Amino acid sequence: MTTVTPAAETTNPFQVALQQLDRALRYLELPEGIAEFLRRPKREVSVNFPVRMDNGDVRMFTGYRVQHSTVRGPSKGGIRYHPLVSMDEVRALAMWMTWKCSLMNLPYGGAKGGVIVDPRELSRGEVERLTRRFTYELTPVIGPEGDIPAPDVNTDAQIMAWMMDTYSMVMGHAATGVVTGKPISIGGSLGRREATGRGVMHTTLAALKHLGISPDNATVVVQGFGNVGSVSAYLLQDAGAKVIAVSDVSGGLYNPKGLEVRDVLAYAERNARLVAGYPKAEAISNEELLALPCDVLVPAALENQITGANVHNIKAKIIAEGANGPTTPEADDVLYDRGVFVIPDILANAGGVTVSYLEWVQDRQAFFWGEAEVNSQLARMMKESFDAVLETSQKMRVDMRTAAYILAVERVADIIQLRGFYP
Ligand code: NAD
Repeated sequence: MTTVTPAAETTNPFQVALQQLDRALRYLELPEGIAEFLRRPKREVSVNFPVRMDNGDVRMFTGYRVQHSTVRGPSKGGIRYHPLVSMDEVRALAMWMTWKCSLMNLPYGGAKGGVIVDPRELSRGEVERLTRRFTYELTPVIGPEGDIPAPDVNTDAQIMAWMMDTYSMVMGHAATGVVTGKPISIGGSLGRREATGRGVMHTTLAALKHLGISPDNATVVVQGFGNVGSVSAYLLQDAGAKVIAVSDVSGGLYNPKGLEVRDVLAYAERNARLVAGYPKAEAISNEELLALPCDVLVPAALENQITGANVHNIKAKIIAEGANGPTTPEADDVLYDRGVFVIPDILANAGGVTVSYLEWVQDRQAFFWGEAEVNSQLARMMKESFDAVLETSQKMRVDMRTAAYILAVERVADIIQLRGFYP
């Protein structure tokens, strides 16, 4: 199997997140105590827990939940199952959630969780038992009013259903609002499954318009073909673009005439959710995919894919960050100097948490909207945030990421000072 080889200088995600924050802080002139408040996660939970495997053995697992901020409201953020999960990765992802929720004007702080595990090596029953025990371990710190998990890499609606059920059993009542990204029948929202990719599509179309590039036959390359990557790819294709390459952990596919994205997805569904071996395309590596000439590159896999080591190979005009943290600060500088238009993760992939918020609102009011209502609210919120970031970037002459951070961090800092310091 081909995997993306992280570049030699790959940075610790939390250090990357801190550098990004510090860049924005230069424009904000906040008291040092407030800056330090923003740098430090509010609460970090680390748990070791047992799971009985199908063969009767007991195996220990390690999981984390970091709540970076609860200043704007309950903390919000996904749960990741991956062998490379670490406390620093979860810290970074939690901090990015704080900025993302703030940028989208959602009444949430940021959190993230993860378990060190390769779920592909576990049976579905083992994944269920792991999920239930991890949820039980987190019960004291999560809840609809406190901290609300959601899906992320290798977690899905079924896993959210098990989390909701476990939390509800402990509490003694059905608590639908404890997680988002649930199945529709237990309080999920129409439009949630596609929401992150839909947000990538909206922000990409806005960037194309800004640069004067027609979406018709604009060429698109997508790295990562999971929830975010596959939906971004087919929605951009629906909008008229030509998706010339996609990839996942099994490698990449390239067809300069354009891939039929839903056909690739149907193939992957039959092939252990992997794209390798799809017949109507040429096989390429993830490194080759990132270097393809194209109008839009959508990194939608993991962190640190565009780094100082490979940024000079990038030929895209627009990078729409479906993934969290795919670009290092060093690469950011090079891209900005070269005039590549980067739609930063906290904006490009904010559609997921935005519809998670709409799901939570529907759970709280116990009244559910049609998909058109959800999609139109999402479109409006993505447009407002994209326009605000672009305007700040032009006014302050900074790149789009720094502009997004300036808006997001300033809002959190203002609320910190408004609320004051307990006791
Ligand atoms: P997923 O598990 O559905 O898909 C991940 C995809 O990335 C898979 O196709 C996998 O094969 C591929 N991948 C993993 N490692 C790779 C590698 N080394 N090289 C190439 N491809 C690789 O996960 P997802 O939910 O689509 O999340 C993808 C990214 O988007 C993550 O950074 C996540 O934090 C971010 N994100 C997800 C959501 C959401 O709603 N799911 C929201 C915002 C951001």
